Formats: sequence, C-alpha cells, structure tokens
Amino acid sequence: MELYWSYLAYLASTLLFIFGIKNMAHPRSAIRGNRLAALGMLIAVIATLVHISILHYQLIVIGILLGSSIGFWIARQVKMTAMPQMISALNGLGGAASLFVALNHAQVIFLYTDVMVISSIYITIVIGAITLTGSVVAFGKLQGFIPSRSIMIPLHNPLNLIAAFSILYLIGLCIQGFNQAYWVQHLLTISLVLGCMLILPIGGSDMPVVISLLNAYSGLAAAVAGFITQNTVLIIAGSLVGTSGFILTLTMCRSMNRSLLKVFLGNNKHSSIDDLADKIYQGNIAKTSTEEVAMILENAQQVVIVPGFGLASSQAQHAVREMANLLESLNIEVRYAIHPVAGRMPGHMNVLLSEAEIPYEQLVELDQINPQFKETDVVIVIGANDVINPSARVDTQSPIYGMPILNVDEAKQVIVIKRSLKTGYAGLPNPLFTCQHTRMLFGDAKKTVSELSHCLKQN
Ligand code: NDP
Repeated sequence: MELYWSYLAYLASTLLFIFGIKNMAHPRSAIRGNRLAALGMLIAVIATLVHISILHYQLIVIGILLGSSIGFWIARQVKMTAMPQMISALNGLGGAASLFVALNHAQVIFLYTDVMVISSIYITIVIGAITLTGSVVAFGKLQGFIPSRSIMIPLHNPLNLIAAFSILYLIGLCIQGFNQAYWVQHLLTISLVLGCMLILPIGGSDMPVVISLLNAYSGLAAAVAGFITQNTVLIIAGSLVGTSGFILTLTMCRSMNRSLLKVFLGNNKHSSIDDLADKIYQGNIAKTSTEEVAMILENAQQVVIVPGFGLASSQAQHAVREMANLLESLNIEVRYAIHPVAGRMPGHMNVLLSEAEIPYEQLVELDQINPQFKETDVVIVIGANDVINPSARVDTQSPIYGMPILNVDEAKQVIVIKRSLKTGYAGLPNPLFTCQHTRMLFGDAKKTVSELSHCLKQN
C-alpha cells in the first residue's frame, strides 16, 4: 500500500515536471512553470523520504534547513546579470551530489551483482566529476577570476582524447572487478582533470553553449545516479534536465552557427585585440549628444531598439519603456530586436523587457527583424556589442565569424549607447562604431536613456 502511494506521488511529480517545463517555454507562463516544477520536486522529495526506510532524519533535516537557507540567501542576493555564474554553480553542485552518491556506493561495490547498477556507479563518477570541475572553470570564466578567452596547453586536444580513452578503459577494468578501489581513484582523478581541460579552451561568445551543456551533464549524472539508488523519479527528472539541456545546447549552437565540436575545440584567433581596436577606432568615431539624438528620433517613423548586456547591467528597462512610450505618443513605431544570446543567459532580454511590461508583440526575433533593418530609420543600440558586430558576417578571421548577428549596420541611422569603446563579452573591437551612419552616445544606459526622455519631453 505504501509503495502504491509513493509511485502515485512519483507519477504526480513527473507530470508536474513535464507541465512545468512546457510552461517555461513562454515568458508569460514561465513563473507558473517554475512553481509547478518546484511543487513536483517537493512531492518527489517527501515521497522518497517516506518510501525508503530511513533510520535517522536528523542529518536530513539539518541538510534541508542549511541548503534552503543558503539557497534562499543566494537567490535574493544574486544580480540578474550574474545568473549564468549562479547556474554554473548549481550545475557543479548537481554534478557533485551525483558524484558523492556514486562514490558512496563504490565503497560497497561487493554488495552489488547487477552489472547495470555497477556500470551506473562508474559512469556517474565520471559524469559527476566532469560536471563538477567543468562548472567550477565555467564559473571562474564568467565571474572573471579565470580569463574568459580560450586557454589551451600544448597538445590540448590529443591529451583530452587520451583522457577519454583512459576513462573508458578504467571503467572496463572496474566493471570486471580488477582492484576496484585502486582504479576508482584514477578514474576520479582523470575525470576531474578532464572536466577542467574540456572547458578551459572555450571562451568568449561560446560560453552560453557551455553553460547549457553542463546543465545537461548534471541532469545526465542525476539520471544515471537514479539507476544506482533505484529511484524512478530521479531517473525521470534527470532525463528531463539532460534532454532539455541538450536540446537547448543544440539550439544555441544553431543560432550562433557553430558546431558543438568547434565550440569544444576552442578558438584562438586574433591574439592582439588591443592593437586591432586602436587601428579600427583611431579618428573614426563620431560622438553625439542626447539633444541631437532626441531630434533624430523625432524625425523618424520607425525605431528599433537593440537591448544588450549593458541595458541589463544598468537596469535600464523601465527607462527604455518610458522613452518608447514617448516615441509612440509621437506616432513613431517602436520595436525591439532580440538576439538569442544577448545579455548573459538564454532569454535574458525577454525576461528583462517583460519585467518593464513591454508588450511581447513588440519583441522581434533575429530572423524576422534582420530583413527589415534596411527600411528602419533609426536603430538605438543600448549596451549591446557582440550581437551587433558586423565582423561576424564579414571577417573570416574573427573568432565570432559565422555567428548570426543583428544587421543593424544596414539601418539608415545607428545610435550606440555605451559608456566607452570597451569591448563586449567576446573581447573584440566592433567596426560598426566607425560606420559613417553610426553615432556614439557615451554614458550609462539608464542615465542616458532617462536624459533622452527628458529631451523628448522638452522638445
Ligand atoms: P556584450 O557583452 O557584447 O557588450 C555589452 C556592452 O555593454 C559592453 O561593450 C559595455 O561597454 C556595455 N555596458 C556595460 N555596462 C553598461 C552600462 N551600465 N551602460 C551602458 N553600457 C554598458 O553584450 P551583448 O548583449 O551584445 O552580447 C552578449 C555576449 O555575452 C555574447 O558574446 C554572448 O555570447 C555572451 N554570453 C551570453 C550568454 C547568454 O546566454 N545570453 C551567457 C554568457 C555569455 P562599456 O563598458 O563601454 O559600457
């Protein structure tokens, strides 16, 4: 009877996870989706605790209280722009949790006879360890304590290949039962090192792909750990995270026109970026003022706003909404061009703009807006850089060559709001800033947009 109820609870959790993910696919229903999935997880945890005969609850209660408090505190502290680091940290913790479960079972491997369970233990150790150290490196790159550029040691990729084959060989040895305790240590060490080696060469604009791939790995590790603990809901939840992570990874690769293999092989083009930037910008930058931009805007019929990381960083979404309202009151059509990797997390711009209650109908995806730039009177780029860099289209030597960008350089007039000529996440100079029809409006996004609104009101 008890078993019957727990399986019913697992079924309810599974359905809640599936509906949760489905709801997360749209900004309007995303919060509901999150809550449904969280409810599913709560039911799964309670059912597991009741289902399995646990002798001591004290440690579990302490763990739940400690984990919930830390999680609550971090979630309240973290800035929207630091979400990728947070996701990386959570991926790493997910990998570590599965790793510890597997290591625990590896110590009593003699208790198991089922080859499926034995293989799951070793596979979980490998995936969990790779996810853990890979996520630590990704966290460091995003946080800035590890350089975000591609880092490679001599013979990097052949060494990775040797490590991968050694792992397969060691799993084989362990499954056959040869001196398991000894080989498991080697399996663990090589997997931990491989996790770092895989992520170090990935840099710049490829980081979003890596975050979602590590997310998929953490799901996969949890799913395989489910086979060890014989927990159905863990297998299902892990598989859902794993597959949705892989689908997101492939979608991001497609939207950046990069193959997953190319992302992993790293990118070392353009070694002296600073020299290049000096050469490109010297004497070719046209500055403008808020008064002049207000006048340009008043004479436009169609305006496209391109939001980027800087808009998120300065929290300018409400100021942008106010400016757009003013423009619309002058019968100017306003739309927003959304690049899939603008900002620092998938869907960052959609979340940000919907927070300011900007209508979804005005948010236009890259494929739809690109053919329309030629007819656009004015494009205002607010804190974006990489996603509007024409080098991605024309410079075969550029590390971001082939990544689809918003073709704002094709518009009749381009205004770029940013604080300086500093590069964006990929660390590359942007030839758009030197185009004849581009004007640079230097300043903090929120402050500058508010000043623009002020000028529009006065005119
Ligand atoms: P970028 O990182 O290319 O550029 C942002 C620009 O904003 C900078 O050049 C900076 O210039 C400016 N900026 C920063 N703060 C402010 C501020 N307060 N006011 C005004 N401007 C500001 O951003 P994009 O959105 O164009 O591109 C995103 C990049 O991040 C891509 O390379 C993407 O691959 C990567 N990435 C994306 C993730 C995702 O999932 N979306 C995850 C991880 C990385 P200045 O300092 O001169 O002001």
